[in-house]
This record gives sequence, structure tokens and C-alpha cells, in this order.
Amino acid sequence: MSGQKTDYIIVGGGLAGISLALELALRGKNLVLLDKPESSSSSRVAAGIIHPIVPKGVRLTWMGETLFPLIADYYREWEAKLNASFFQPLNGFQIHPNEETSDFWQLRSQTAEMQPWIDALNHDTLPGIVAKNAFTPISQCARLNTNAFLAAAEEWLKTRIVIEQAEFQHASLRKVGNHWHYEAYAADGIIFCEGIKVLENPWFNKLHFHPTAGDILTLKFDKELPTALYKNRNWLVPDGKGNWLAGSTFHKGSLDTSPLPEDAEKLMEQIRFWTKIPFRLSKHRRGVRPTVEGRRPYLGEHPTDRGIFIYNGLGSKGSSLIPWLSPMMADFLCNGTKINTEVDISRFDL
Ligand SMILES: Cc1cc2nc3c(=O)[nH]c(=O)nc-3n(C[C@H](O)[C@H](O)[C@H](O)COP(=O)(O)OP(=O)(O)OC[C@H]3O[C@@H](n4cnc5c(N)ncnc54)[C@H](O)[C@@H]3O)c2cc1C
Repeated sequence: MSGQKTDYIIVGGGLAGISLALELALRGKNLVLLDKPESSSSSRVAAGIIHPIVPKGVRLTWMGETLFPLIADYYREWEAKLNASFFQPLNGFQIHPNEETSDFWQLRSQTAEMQPWIDALNHDTLPGIVAKNAFTPISQCARLNTNAFLAAAEEWLKTRIVIEQAEFQHASLRKVGNHWHYEAYAADGIIFCEGIKVLENPWFNKLHFHPTAGDILTLKFDKELPTALYKNRNWLVPDGKGNWLAGSTFHKGSLDTSPLPEDAEKLMEQIRFWTKIPFRLSKHRRGVRPTVEGRRPYLGEHPTDRGIFIYNGLGSKGSSLIPWLSPMMADFLCNGTKINTEVDISRFDL
């Protein structure tokens, strides 16, 4: 049985699969990327917010010290290579709902741990925002325009690798000698980057995925709101086209991607509480985050079926994680460099 030889077949063209394809193509690998594009896929719905703080307890996000020094350089370098624009640094403002919260953020802002990330409480007026209990400025916030990134990456990749818009059928994969055969291709390895569709993957569906559906609204404001990332219980971020994205909800365990009007209403009601400017809803989308137990992504090789790999579990943080994880996964595949133990799937019995 022969087939068209390729180094890797990547299954899935979301943030994980596309960014890994960029890294592997850069390292000279032959690739086939199979993606069944869906407008409700997590990467296509995502707001792409990059934010260093976990509000509960006002702590630095997991691996923040490692991730944040990488993020801007990573996206700027890819913007230059792809001749496109998709990364926008933003001022971040945490709008406090009550005095208790503002006091707590103020206390945290005085600790050595948080000083590089959050400023002291600010009592100035933010145009268009109701900040009765003041706000806390946050450093190093940004937005990845995920759809612009995916489109630019595909454009660059399509002259370098094979890209097919097709659904991968797990049952059609065969091991012949040292190669994995799939349709016309014989690959050294298959890398699954399927997002939450991993639940249908017979090699990796025992990993602990807990899908979390979420809603994103596109809002048109009647008057201009200064460009920034505003957060309260929910958030507002400019979409780069003159509108604002607002979100999000967390429907634990749900795989449903049909938006419900009541979710939009609830989000808009919460946003009206802290924005003075009237707005209209122009779009409502819902997607499912590939959330995992312990919020530690899943990277690595299947323990018994060698040549079968996974890169998944980016949860609600794909935009912050890929600058660290995609080069790590590519170096593992190309040079055997060790995967960070916290994200390596060898921590599980599969
Ligand atoms: C409402 C919402 C808001 C979010 N907001 C943010 C945010 O502000 N910041 C942030 O960093 N992250 C955010 N996220 C999370 C972010 O979207 C994810 O971390 C990231 O996009 C996951 O990327 P992925 O490539 O792993 O999965 P996906 O984006 O789901 O991509 C998987 C791709 O694989 C394809 N696929 C699956 N199975 C097959 C198959 N058998 N054959 C062919 N193709 C297949 C799918 O169609 C899809 O195109 C949000 C997510 C949601 C849902």
C-alpha cells in the first residue's frame, strides 16, 4: 500500500492546528492540514482577549510569568511574516461593581506579586463608563483578532502545505509499516487539533474534557467609546471594525452552538449596568470552549500508538497560550525537545 508521503497530517484548523502548521512549515516540514471549517468553532467565535488576571482572588493567570513576555513578540513576528494585522495591545480597565471589590483589588495592587500587572485604584472618569467604585488599570492586555489571524495564516500556508476542507474520518486511518495511511496520504504522524470535537476521537476521548459553551455579542454603540478592554463581571472589547464584542457566558457541559435570545438579553442587561452609551445588538454567536480539568492543556504522543499526537485543551485561553505551546509542540515533533510536564499528556494513563 503506497501513498503520497508527508511528514504530518494535522486534523483541525483552529488556533491550535493553524499555529502549529505555521511553526512546522517554518521548520521545513511537509504537511497536510484537514479542517472542516465551522463558523461556530471555538477559534472563530472567540473574542481573542489576552488578559493576565484571574478576577477570583485577583491572581496572575496560570503560567503568566512565562506567557506574557512571549505574546507580543510572537504575534508581531507572525504579523510581519504573514504581512497582516491581527494583534492589538489594549489598555485594560477593571470596573468595580462595589466598594468591597475595589478595596480588595487595591489591596492586591500593593503586593509585590501583582505590582507588575495592576495599578492602584483610579477614581478618574472613564468616558462612557459608569465606574461608581473606581477602576483598576491592568497592564499587558491585548486582543488577537482570531479570524484575521486564521485567514492570514491560511493564505501563507496554502502555497507551502496541502490544505483540504474535509472532515477527517478516524475509522479510515490505518498503520502500514512505519506510516499512518489516510486516503491518498502516508504520514509519519497524525496530530489531532480538533478542539471539542476530540470527544469523537477514539485515541484521546478518555482525556478529561469538559465542554463549556459561551456566547459573544457584537454591539453597535450610538456614540464612540474610547478603545480599551473594559471588564466587570463581563467585558467589552473593540472588534477592530467600529463595533464592540461583549461576553461571555459559561454553559458548563453544553455542546450546543445555537445562540438563545435570553442569553443575549442577560448579557446586555449586565452591560447596561456599567455603560452609559446606548447600543444595539448586531450579532450573537455561540461556540464551545475545549475546556479541560485543571485548566492544563493536553500536548503529546499517544503512549501505545506511536505517531498519534494531540495538541488541545486550550480552554478559554487559546490566544495567550499558543505563543508558548505551538513552538513547544513543533520543537517536540521536530527535535524531540521535552514538552513541559504540566501540559504533557504522559501525566495520564490512557
Ligand atoms: C464564546 C467563546 C469566547 C472565547 N473567548 C476567548 C478569548 O477572549 N480569549 C481566548 O484566548 N480564548 C477565547 N476562547 C477560547 C478559544 O476560542 C480556544 O481556546 C481556542 O480557539 C481553541 O482552539 P482549537 O484550535 O483547540 O479548537 P477549535 O477552534 O475548536 O478548532 C478545531 C478545528 O478542528 C476542526 N475539526 C474538528 N474535528 C475535525 C475532523 N474530524 N475533521 C476535520 N476538522 C475537524 C473544527 O471544525 C475546527 O475548525 C473563547 C471561546 C468561546 C467559545
